[in-house]
Amino acid sequence: MNQPMGSETSQTWYEATAPAPSREDLGPPRGVAACDVCVIGGGLAGITTARELQKRGRIVVLLEAKQLAWGASGRNAGFVGNGFAAGIEEIIERVGLRNAQALYRLSAHGTEYVRREVQRLDASIKMGDGIIIAQRVDDPAGARRYAAMMLRDFNEGLDVLSTEQTREILVTDRYYQSIRNPRSLLIHPLRYARALADDAQHCGVKIHENTPALSVRKEGTSLVVRTAYGEIHARHVVHCVSSLDRRIHPPTGRAVLPVATYVAVTEPLEQDAIRVRSGIGDMRRAGDYYRLIPDNRVLWGGRITTRVSTPSRLARMLKQDMLSVYPQLGAPKIDYAWAGLMAYALHKMPLIGRAPDGQWFATAFGGHGLNTTAMAGLLLAGAIADGDDEYRRFAAFAPRWAGGPFGRIGVQANYWLMQARDRRDEKAARQVRLAAE
Ligand SMILES: Cc1cc2nc3c(=O)[nH]c(=O)nc-3n(C[C@H](O)[C@H](O)[C@H](O)COP(=O)(O)OP(=O)(O)OC[C@H]3O[C@@H](n4cnc5c(N)ncnc54)[C@H](O)[C@@H]3O)c2cc1C
Repeated sequence: MNQPMGSETSQTWYEATAPAPSREDLGPPRGVAACDVCVIGGGLAGITTARELQKRGRIVVLLEAKQLAWGASGRNAGFVGNGFAAGIEEIIERVGLRNAQALYRLSAHGTEYVRREVQRLDASIKMGDGIIIAQRVDDPAGARRYAAMMLRDFNEGLDVLSTEQTREILVTDRYYQSIRNPRSLLIHPLRYARALADDAQHCGVKIHENTPALSVRKEGTSLVVRTAYGEIHARHVVHCVSSLDRRIHPPTGRAVLPVATYVAVTEPLEQDAIRVRSGIGDMRRAGDYYRLIPDNRVLWGGRITTRVSTPSRLARMLKQDMLSVYPQLGAPKIDYAWAGLMAYALHKMPLIGRAPDGQWFATAFGGHGLNTTAMAGLLLAGAIADGDDEYRRFAAFAPRWAGGPFGRIGVQANYWLMQARDRRDEKAARQVRLAAE
């Protein structure tokens, strides 16, 4: 893997609170093995794809370089809701309203899949309901317009909360109106990924952890995946490695950019600032996302960089962000802080499809991967096992070179630009309000 993960090795709250995996560890594969499909990468994209293929009668081998869900899939904020990392307006602009509606429906299948599987596998994976997105500028008409558009065009019923209602549940004068999606859910992502993987193994998927795939070559009608001790001969290969290995399949590797984001978890708090157990975010282009978790700890996420920061630095930064919204929280101790790497394509949509070399890929879910990895697993399993071509809806978002090191610089510069614009918009809104008072 060509992406050093640095501080990602610090323990997460999820690791501290998830039961150990109960699957049988097969160890690295030795010699030559054959299967129908070899899935590379054991995050939620790979686990779901492998499980769904095996359920459709294919013989599946899943290779994971480290431990399953060690990457973003086991360390994210746990918000599960419809949609994509790209905003709905951007998607409409690119593919038109009807195609955007079809894509949105697919993303909703992903959410429903997670909801159903959580219920079926272990109801304790679910940690709450609803996501609230708060505005940091006073724009009641804008909030109502957005909710009306989502209902009319996407059949998505959102509640608009007034400033008073918002501040009743989120006690901060940083927020004005907010939009709540009551059908979103919150999960313990590591518990979910482990339970799904246990179930995949139960269905027959052969899972090999600590087994990086080193290369893939074509040999007759087979694809041969090389590992340190053995080879897997497969009819199909599916790449689900996110941005953690951009060499194993260059056509997709060069189309993704690694982007880090951060989470901190406070000590247990006695607080009355956050009064709901929903997921909370704000509408800024580069906003915060957070929620209450058991023992009244606050799990606070935010920030984006193209290099992974150290845990002590990121704990300080996130604490500053948290106190800038809720100064009444005082000086909470940060018990856990970690980073996670996501993959982004330039258009911020997932890359799902089949490359000209015949290999399949499902990657670039960005910061909206909990529903979309499930959606991708369903789409690719349907395509490979049943010849279903629904996955082609993502053809408009084919892999394109993301600019290499220039792309990384561009992402970082763009984030700083977004932060500057967020600050400018908030300042302008404050001035308008003061002038009106
Ligand atoms: C801090 C954070 C917060 C987030 N919050 C949310 C949220 O609240 N809601 C939401 O929807 N999304 C969220 N996301 C995004 C979401 O977590 C990701 O989009 C999603 O988990 C990506 O899944 P994946 O399977 O593509 O990648 P990963 O989970 O990164 O898995 C890729 C796997 O591939 C393995 N691998 C790499 N190279 C090889 C190789 N050569 N051979 C074998 N295996 C290999 C890696 O070890 C890794 O396990 C968040 C992400 C982060 C980092």
